[in-house]
Amino acid sequence: MVSDVKSECIYCGTSKNLCRRSHIVPRCLGTFKDQPTLRYKVCEDCEGAIGKCEDILAKCAPEALLKANLGIKGRHKNSTSPFRRKHAGHGPIEMKIMYPGTEYEMLVEPLGDGQNCEIVPHIEISDSEGNKKQIIIEEPDSLTAEELKKKIFSSEIENPVKVWPRMQNNEQVDRIFKLLKKCCLYKSEEVVEEIKPFEGIVKAEGYTSWDERRFRAIAKIAFHYYLNYNNFNHTGYEDFFIPVRNFIRYGRNNFTDFIVEKRGYFIEQLKNGWKPPTYGHIVVSIVNQKFIIVKIQLFVGPNYEPPYYEVILGKNIFKIKIPETIFGHNYVYADDNEKMNYDGSMHQLLATKLILTRGLPII
Ligand SMILES: [Zn+2]
Repeated sequence: MVSDVKSECIYCGTSKNLCRRSHIVPRCLGTFKDQPTLRYKVCEDCEGAIGKCEDILAKCAPEALLKANLGIKGRHKNSTSPFRRKHAGHGPIEMKIMYPGTEYEMLVEPLGDGQNCEIVPHIEISDSEGNKKQIIIEEPDSLTAEELKKKIFSSEIENPVKVWPRMQNNEQVDRIFKLLKKCCLYKSEEVVEEIKPFEGIVKAEGYTSWDERRFRAIAKIAFHYYLNYNNFNHTGYEDFFIPVRNFIRYGRNNFTDFIVEKRGYFIEQLKNGWKPPTYGHIVVSIVNQKFIIVKIQLFVGPNYEPPYYEVILGKNIFKIKIPETIFGHNYVYADDNEKMNYDGSMHQLLATKLILTRGLPII
């Protein structure tokens, strides 16, 4: 562990309002037993700004879908579902299924355990040419006629002729009809076949929207991980970290200066086709004469092949000759019945388990 005497924010230099703990893997991706934190190194303002980037990662990007499927709640257990509301200017995430036994495409969201899903209350509006648009109704029980009207007429469908409420119960459906009557949009009801709850597996497709802040959140994981575990007494205040600090904190420079996204795996066993039984994140740091690099692969697991990221924290910083150093950790989510106070645990990758594939990025 690296000790440190300075008590200034590594990002902005202030010595005011330093956070007691700053996480490596963001809290919004769950809690991992024994995960160390950076202590008194990031101020509240910087923590807040970086937290917004982490929101993109955990609530808007593909990682948000995986998180929901694993039933990971994040810091605010009752915060609004990213399947219903925008976060950090993006979303909501659209997860669609073709409802079994019908030809209707519906918006759904995973339930708490991530194993089942339910309909996200929404209306589908269509025009006379059959163009359709689904609009989420966040709070169907408190929606007003005026709000409903606004939603119907501010969508991409210019001349809507049909509104179809897709709600979680009949009371909510009746309420939508009542509101349509109230704003004089009601003509007649069309009876469609009854949609019954079903058991079984259905393929869902997810649509996410996000921006470059997602990469700043990934770079932060890399930076904080390196600061916690490096053997060089690097504390984060060093000048050669200025570019990556400015990228993480202020979005300066292009993300491609710091992050390379790749398909496949960087752990040999995974490359050879082995799949871990449960999901987790793999973080590995490689330090050599030319680079300080952290490789990150989030949500590695049995049924998903995530991309991985090579985060370049520094280049050509060692003036003396050093041997290559590699260290890594696996943050593993626990099964539901194993969960106690944490969502998972972290494990050091041992040399025998950590076989990296050859080749560093060409920059
Ligand atoms: Zn700061």
